[in-house]
Amino acid sequence: MNERIAILIGDITRQHVDAIVNAANSSLLGGGGVDGAIHRAAGPELLEECRRIGGCPTGETRLTRGYRLPATWVIHTVGPVWRGGQHGEDELLASCYRNSLALAVQHGIRTIAFPAISTGVYGFPMAPAAHIAVREVNDFLEHDPSIERVVFVCYSQEAYKAYEAELNKPE
Ligand code: ADP
Repeated sequence: MNERIAILIGDITRQHVDAIVNAANSSLLGGGGVDGAIHRAAGPELLEECRRIGGCPTGETRLTRGYRLPATWVIHTVGPVWRGGQHGEDELLASCYRNSLALAVQHGIRTIAFPAISTGVYGFPMAPAAHIAVREVNDFLEHDPSIERVVFVCYSQEAYKAYEAELNKPE
């Protein structure tokens, strides 16, 4: 297991990292799940900044401040809605992870926490989602020395088990 990667069960809004990633929707105007939790914890200034940005296509990312969160920054990314797996879902989910990490590097962010993007309301199955998340982060870290720590914040035992299995797979 890469010593720069950690997994834990918890609430992403409580993480003391440079940036947390939000599994947003394309309007960036807030929603349920992790998005709702992040907006509640960050306060209304976050929604104001998101409104000014105006939206984000699936697979892409946008950066805002973290306001009342312990994290300095929020990287908003829009995961794909699961439509059976034959509609580019895997590649779009991979883009969320790659683009989030690239944006982090551009802004000097060294510690970053990810939720299990798309695995809630958007319906992406947990095991393949964890596989893509771990593969993309491993590949990125292999070529980038500037990110010090990536935390996968799991909201359920099921998510934790899926990430643990992926992280313990031999390369
Ligand atoms: P999506 O629309 O991308 O599926 P959701 O917010 O519905 O986004 O769910 C994404 C994942 O985030 C799910 O696995 C869900 O259990 C998890 N989650 C929900 N709230 C939190 C939280 N406060 N911290 C970390 N993960 C969370």
